[in-house]
Amino acid sequence: MNITEEPIDIHQWTPASRAEPSVRIGVILESDQVDRIHVVLQDGACRVTGNHTDDVTLPSCTDLTVERTDEGLILHTAEDTLGPTDRLRIDPQEKIDAARGAGILVRDIVAGRGFHWQKNADQTLQGSLEFVNAPGGIVMVNDILLEDYLVGVITAEMGSACPVEFLKAQCVVARSWLLAMTEPKHEDEPFDRCNDDCCQRYQGTGDMSKSAIDAVRGTRGLVLIDPKNKVLDANYAKSCGGISELAEHVWGRPKPGISAVIDAPKGDPVHDFMPVTESNLDAFLNGDWLSHTRAYCSTHVVPVDSISKYLGRVDEVDDYFRWDVKYSRDELEGLLRDKLPEAEMISELRDVRVTSRGVSGRASRLELRWIDENGNEQTHTLDSEYRIREVLHRGFLYSSAFALTIRRGGDGKIETIHLRGAGWGHGAGLCQIGALGMGLTGHDVDAICMHYYPDAVLQAVYP
Ligand SMILES: [Zn+2]
Ligand SMILES: [Zn+2]
Repeated sequence: MNITEEPIDIHQWTPASRAEPSVRIGVILESDQVDRIHVVLQDGACRVTGNHTDDVTLPSCTDLTVERTDEGLILHTAEDTLGPTDRLRIDPQEKIDAARGAGILVRDIVAGRGFHWQKNADQTLQGSLEFVNAPGGIVMVNDILLEDYLVGVITAEMGSACPVEFLKAQCVVARSWLLAMTEPKHEDEPFDRCNDDCCQRYQGTGDMSKSAIDAVRGTRGLVLIDPKNKVLDANYAKSCGGISELAEHVWGRPKPGISAVIDAPKGDPVHDFMPVTESNLDAFLNGDWLSHTRAYCSTHVVPVDSISKYLGRVDEVDDYFRWDVKYSRDELEGLLRDKLPEAEMISELRDVRVTSRGVSGRASRLELRWIDENGNEQTHTLDSEYRIREVLHRGFLYSSAFALTIRRGGDGKIETIHLRGAGWGHGAGLCQIGALGMGLTGHDVDAICMHYYPDAVLQAVYP
């Protein structure tokens, strides 16, 4: 197939377009500080265009490098040199279909920026590549059709052993989130979304699985439409812990189509805990009901040791449903000094108290009281679940759905602080482990989507 018509840019796209848009993904970012990129056109001839060069067509199997110099970007092949220019674009002459290893090969791309598993690897990418000369390094953008991009996302985020109906639900959610385009991200950069957890993880076609290709093809164009008749900004989180959270307790304002969902079949004991409050919190976190719940994200439905088989291979695996963190007063004071500028002069932590919770038990406000080095009492409030998770852990606390048990010595001073918690992530929208549990227990894509977004409808927005 020759590429004749330009696809619609995702920013211009509306459901009335009735056509598949393209999306621009930042694969090499300015912050990666890359000055030289090695590319192999391993999958067909490509047209190369630059804004200060003549166009050329390079045959399949051409090896080339894009180099950043003081004059601009220069493209070298064994025979030719192009540039300098400040923008270069490589367009395959024929559309490359989704298949393992298909597309243009780019050497040594960083994955998992800033995480402990950060690594460099070769990637193969469908669609076109664009190279932009930025002050800190070359920015490489993958301009790709949305459905092809989604296969790469599903492959990178989920293991190929996942039940296909669960993968389909992930496709619908990822597609909806992208098409809704409500989150302002990377606004001053030459791409729409990056290839990491900051947006959605995407690693091209290298590990592309048949199940990911089937899941995307089986849901082509299918999205969630919210009660206001717009594409639903479909948030999701790793594990809700039994009940999903309302948007107002996570982002401070309601969002159409995001509601609190009891993540279990009818009749399950978790229904008794809606909403989670200070008075039922202990039982929610540690009650006897946990031995027989069939909550979709519970370890009875998705055993802890099977999670690594289903979730992306770079995720940390632990018990997401119920967890424990313990601090000595010293440790927590050290954490506060490091994470909270106001607490730099802390001399003795006196109290920690959750003062507001959402329906899933997630703390949305937490009060800290301490004595500073001058002997004055200070009070500080963390006023979002995000801040609470950020401050109360060296890395990031699993979730803010926790109970605090403070043990004090005979002198009334805090000795230890024990956090017993539920779930992983903000907990609003689809619960990934719960959706996996639904897939494992025979639910299809419609049932999974309608369970987590009961106010939405499923609709195919392009053929
Ligand atoms: Zn991003
Ligand atoms: Zn859940």
